[in-house]
Parts: sequence; structure tokens; C-alpha cells
Amino acid sequence: MIDVVDRIEYFAENAPDRVAFTSVDGQINYRQLWEASKDFAKKIESLRLEGKIDVKSPIAVYGHKEPQMIISFIGCALAGHPYCPLDRSMPDSRIEDILRAIGTRVWVKCENGEGKILELDPAQLDEPGDFSDDSNDVMYIIFTSGSTGKPKGVEVTKQNLGNFLEWMTGVGTPIEEKEGEVFLNQAPYSFDLSVMDTYTALASGATIASLDKGTMSNAASTMEFLKVQNVNYWISTPSFVDMMLAEKDFNSGKYPDIKVFFFCGERLTKTTASKLIKAFPHSKVINTYGPTESTVAISSVEIKNEHINEDDELPVGLIKPGTKVFLQREDGIIIDEFNQNIAEESRGREDVTPQKIDMGEILIEGNTVAKGYFKMPEKTAVAFDLIKLKNGEVHRMYHTGDLGYFKEGMLYCIGRTDLQVKVHGYRMEIGDIEANILLKENVEAVCVVPKRKDGKIRSLVAFVVAPSVSGSFDDAKDIKLHLKELLPEYMVPKKIKFIDKLPMTSNGKVDRKTLEGMA
Ligand code: AMP
Repeated sequence: MIDVVDRIEYFAENAPDRVAFTSVDGQINYRQLWEASKDFAKKIESLRLEGKIDVKSPIAVYGHKEPQMIISFIGCALAGHPYCPLDRSMPDSRIEDILRAIGTRVWVKCENGEGKILELDPAQLDEPGDFSDDSNDVMYIIFTSGSTGKPKGVEVTKQNLGNFLEWMTGVGTPIEEKEGEVFLNQAPYSFDLSVMDTYTALASGATIASLDKGTMSNAASTMEFLKVQNVNYWISTPSFVDMMLAEKDFNSGKYPDIKVFFFCGERLTKTTASKLIKAFPHSKVINTYGPTESTVAISSVEIKNEHINEDDELPVGLIKPGTKVFLQREDGIIIDEFNQNIAEESRGREDVTPQKIDMGEILIEGNTVAKGYFKMPEKTAVAFDLIKLKNGEVHRMYHTGDLGYFKEGMLYCIGRTDLQVKVHGYRMEIGDIEANILLKENVEAVCVVPKRKDGKIRSLVAFVVAPSVSGSFDDAKDIKLHLKELLPEYMVPKKIKFIDKLPMTSNGKVDRKTLEGMA
């Protein structure tokens, strides 16, 4: 396992002037990162001595792409506190919910070149919880959308991160080749894809070139950023590269230094991969797969033309060492990659939709599977299941909710068993959006469905039953404004359609398929 904090210390001594992080908000080299992180850790430790925070209590770090974000993350790790990254694009009410749930009296706000430590009113906070005797040190807690309208905090330990980095630093190129190179950070820090670029870069002694929302909103300025920063390793969602592929100059002629494109977080389509291979014939295109609950990614594959020419969708790859993937079929049977039934008693899950034989829900076991959901023991017990194998051993496996199959040892991911969706790379629960629309007065019922093009979700449409309003453009706008106060902007459905009543299936459930057809 790789200890990223040790690695930063190592590069602070051996390559002190090398840039560790650069963005529109500033630049720091390895020595500055190390010194500033140690100073920050001291501040946190003194708050603990003053009795303002407890041992190992989590600390929220709010901001966007400031160097202080990274300094605060490493400072928290040095002081023995998990950090919880919160991006500025999240609405205040969501931030307040998370701060309350975390229950720690202080939080960090990064702005204007500073990481300010701010205090909260203890009366407004949930019970802080006692983490002092926890032997698994949590590195970070990343909140993801929860199906009932409350976000869940995934607790990733230092060991999880170390095991992920042990593998990831060698994917695409050996770790030695990554040293001194430039990694693109596109994802916000509240999305675990950022862990792939930021910590792989820091563990390899590379530079993080962090793209902020403002620059990203304009293709020309993004093109300029990539040129000026001389990016060598590209890490993004496929949706982001799609945006760049629309630019005629996005090719190896203009960007000869991009060696590897890493993708994760959503389906990589054949269209995107083949366009990219054409535009960058000398670069590697690597698809990786995994949920936040298993530390970013657990599989990888270099996509070549032969994959594009196969009948199947693109594979998500070979499973990394230290991890095992099993599939739980619709009948409850759990099989391994050789289609052998491995579990002694396999419990069926009602929500799995019927599938062909030898497909099933992807279950992940191994050294990057997270500790669980922060202060949610019931949800943790359901998602991180204990399964008894035929040989009597009990294994802890994470239920991804993804549907997949194996072919020649390679994993394929073909959809979901539930209502979690990815829109432009962002993970969200349809239930979360619906629960928040229902909070609006006059709304009696709602169903949110994806609108797809070429099999990929392009946007969301909300069908709303609200008999007391006329269903005008302004009524739709009102609902969107209401949602913007409660949810990140990317979760607000693009279209609101008013409907007299929701169609039902014969067994009395909302007929989502029919609504998808009407979206
Ligand atoms: P997140 O926790 O935000 O990283 O989202 C994890 C989910 O994203 C997975 O459970 C999958 O549904 C989806 N996902 C991640 N990587 C891929 C991939 N390469 N292909 C298809 N879906 C993916």
C-alpha cells in the first residue's frame, strides 16, 4: 500500500520546487504543500486541545479548486481527522444538511488564498459520535446522493486509499514514468473521480493541473488551459471529453503530450472511444470502473479498435489485484467470474430486474471496499453485505446496484438494478430528486425519468401532478427554483411536465417505462 502523505513528504525533500498543484486560484510546489499542510495540522490539533473538536472527528472542507483544498485535506490527514470535501457548486441547504450530519463544531472554508476555520453553533448539529477507538483511520468522507433525499457519506479509510494507489499508480504507465508529469483534474473534489487524478499525481511526484468551473464552462479557455499546462495524463468523465471532442483542434497535433486518457464514473461509449482513438492515435484510452464505495475504481482496460468492433458494449476491464468481483443473479445465486456458484446461501433481492443467465448485480469484495456509510449502520449493513461462501468463510461484499457479466475474465457493466443514474458523469438517485420535488407545496405526485439518446442518459424529465396550478411555464420555473435551493444544479431536471395523473403498471407501481417514452 502507498501512503500518499509519506510520498508528499518524500517529494518535498527530494523535489521541493516541483509544482504539486496549480489552478486559477494559485500554485504551490511540493515543499509549500508539505509545510502548509503541517501548519494546518497544527491548527487542527490545537482546536482539539482546546476541546472544540474530538479525536478523529471529521472536518468538512468547502471550496472549489484552491490550493488550500489540498493543503486542508493533507493537513486533516496529518492531524488524524477525516476530511469531507464539499464543492462550492452545492446549494447552501445541502451544505448545511451535511455540516449538521457531520456534527463537528468547526469546518474549513477555502477562499481568497486562505483556508479559514469557521465555527458552527453546537445546538444546530447532530450528535458528533465517538470515533476515538476506531482502528480503521478514515481518510475522507464523500457524500453521494441518497434515495430518500438525504445524502450518504461514504467513509474511505487510509488503507483503502493506499491499496487503490498501489494499483492505480501503475495503470497505463509505470509509476516512475508518471513522476514529474502533469495530471488533469477536472472533477470537483466532492466527486471521488478527483481522488484518481489528485492522489495518483501526488503519490507519483507529478503535478496536478486543476480545471475550475469558470474555465471549464468555455471550450476555448479549456483548450488554452490544456495547452498552457501541458497535460500528460487526462482524467475525466466521458461526458467531459465528449464536450472537448466537439472542438476541431482537440487532437494530437495540438496536444502531442497527452499520453493516457483515463475514464471513470459513467459508461464510455464506442462513439466517444473511436473518435478519441482517431484524434489521438498515439495516446492510450483506458476505461476504468468502480463506485465511491470501493475507492474510485477496481478495474481497467486499454480500449483498442478490436473492442470497438466487438458486438458487446465496451468492457470496464480486468479486476485489480486485492479485489474480487462476484455477480448476484436474479435468482439470488452468487457466481464468480467462471460462472461457478460460490455462496452457501444466496439471498435474493427483490429489486433486481430479470436478466439473462450469468448476468447479475456486481458485488465487490476486497481491500478498497469502504468502511461504510457515515453514521448510517442500517444502510451500511444492507449495502455492505456479509455473505457466507461454500467453504464456510464469510465475506463482506458491496452491492453496487450495477448489472454486469464476465467474458474471458473481463468485466462488462451494462446498466443498473435500481434508480441510480449518471447524468453528465454525476451520480444521483432519482428518489432524491423526487423527494425534494414533493416538498414543494401543491405537488401531489411526481416521477422523474431519464431522457436517453444513443442509449446514454442526456437529461432528466420530471412528470408532476399538481392539480391546483395551471401547469404554465412559470409553474415549471417555480419548481426548478425550489429545487435549486435544495439540490446541486446538475440534479435539477431539465424539463418539468405537468400531467393529470401518473400512469400505473398492472401491479400498481408508477409506470416509469411509459413515462420514459413520453419524456
Ligand atoms: P460514483 O460513486 O460517483 O463513482 O459512481 C459509481 C457508479 O458509476 C457505478 O456504480 C456505475 O454505475 C457507474 N460507473 C462508473 N464507472 C463506469 C464505467 N466505466 N462504465 C459504466 N458505468 C460506470
